[in-house]
Amino acid sequence: MKDCIKNIKGTKDVSFEESYIWHYIENYINSFFQRYGYSEVRTPTFENTELFIRSIGGDTDIVSKEMYSWIDQGKNTLTLRPEFTASIARYFIQNQLHKKNPMHKIYYVGSSFRRERPQKGRLREFKQFGIEAIGSQFPEQDAEIIAMAYNFYQELGISNLKLELNSIGSKESRAEYRSVLKTYLQKYKNDLSETSKKRLEINPLRILDTKIDFEKDIIKNAPKIIDYLNKDDKKYFSSTLDLLDSIKVPYSVNDYLVRGLDYYSQTVFEIQSNLLGSQNALCGGGRYDYLIEELGGKSTPAIGFAAGLERLILAIDIDNILKIVPDIYMISIGDDAIQHSFKIAHQLRENKKLNIVNDSLRRNMKAQMKDANRLQAKYVIIIGEEEIASNQFIVKNMNSGDQKKLSIDKVIEHFK
Ligand code: AMP
Repeated sequence: MKDCIKNIKGTKDVSFEESYIWHYIENYINSFFQRYGYSEVRTPTFENTELFIRSIGGDTDIVSKEMYSWIDQGKNTLTLRPEFTASIARYFIQNQLHKKNPMHKIYYVGSSFRRERPQKGRLREFKQFGIEAIGSQFPEQDAEIIAMAYNFYQELGISNLKLELNSIGSKESRAEYRSVLKTYLQKYKNDLSETSKKRLEINPLRILDTKIDFEKDIIKNAPKIIDYLNKDDKKYFSSTLDLLDSIKVPYSVNDYLVRGLDYYSQTVFEIQSNLLGSQNALCGGGRYDYLIEELGGKSTPAIGFAAGLERLILAIDIDNILKIVPDIYMISIGDDAIQHSFKIAHQLRENKKLNIVNDSLRRNMKAQMKDANRLQAKYVIIIGEEEIASNQFIVKNMNSGDQKKLSIDKVIEHFK
């Protein structure tokens, strides 16, 4: 192990023991989102840094201290994406999608990168998946997205879900609230952390998102944004809640939920699970009606959510996921048998549903049998000199222990 190069802190290998769980979840993501009429978009892993500064906001933790940015040989300032919404908005604008269709329902899956302090459920390269519904300014779109996020986890059997919602209103409503909140927080200025002191001037709403206990105590009695929403914003929020009630999605309104990215407006939400420890957010999202225009596109309303795959895997009951095991493990003993086994495996693979493992280590019978057991193979086919001479191959059911002798044609037929 001397001088062995290791993976980078905060990154993770998916081992062969775990990969079946990832395949299961990735297949589930694709089928679940497609069921609601969403199609996948894949954007590049890196973009111009400016895209993230302009969308996520220069004052956010992500942009101010967590991005992996560099200048390439052509003097371009580039960044590994820290999230997807900015890239999807860029893709939407660049391809003038508003001209092609009034509504775009998109989902995505891939790596995001943030230089955070690694801990359970928090990595520096992590997999995100999520959806963006671009085009609708109506509450049924908000309710659809929130219900989708909730049902996504529920159908996977994750218990103890906590869905929290809030409205942070339109720009107009927020302007008034911002000054009221600032006045309130000024009274506690000396008790705030250095970061919050700075935020008090630039963006006091972000202090509501604090994770520091003594700041949480101050927030407890802060004015609530809901009391400062204008009539339209209030109506919009209550229509969204009514729709969720009508399909019995359980939620609670958290008056201080703001979320850490700058582009949100109106509805914001988060789903947590108490199975996760301190990094308990499974997903979060909200409306971002101003983002596309701010990035130079035609003003287009939109809403979405982003979720972490590693955290989902921490919360899921792995025992309920069917492990992929070989249907057949081919055991061969002797030079002739190796060739036969190779050929028979090829013939059997014409049945594309079969998962077949053919030993390639020329091990003895005992070692091959042990390996078949380790992999939990359903059947073994044993091929030796005697079997070849008599055209009678042993097919053993590893669960029941039953075994029979079959000619090659019958073996193929047996597994058709
Ligand atoms: P955000 O873009 O910060 O709203 O994050 C959306 C979701 O991505 C979170 O709810 C997490 O599930 C996941 N996530 C965010 N940051 C990390 C991270 N550093 N490591 C693992 N998952 C993360």
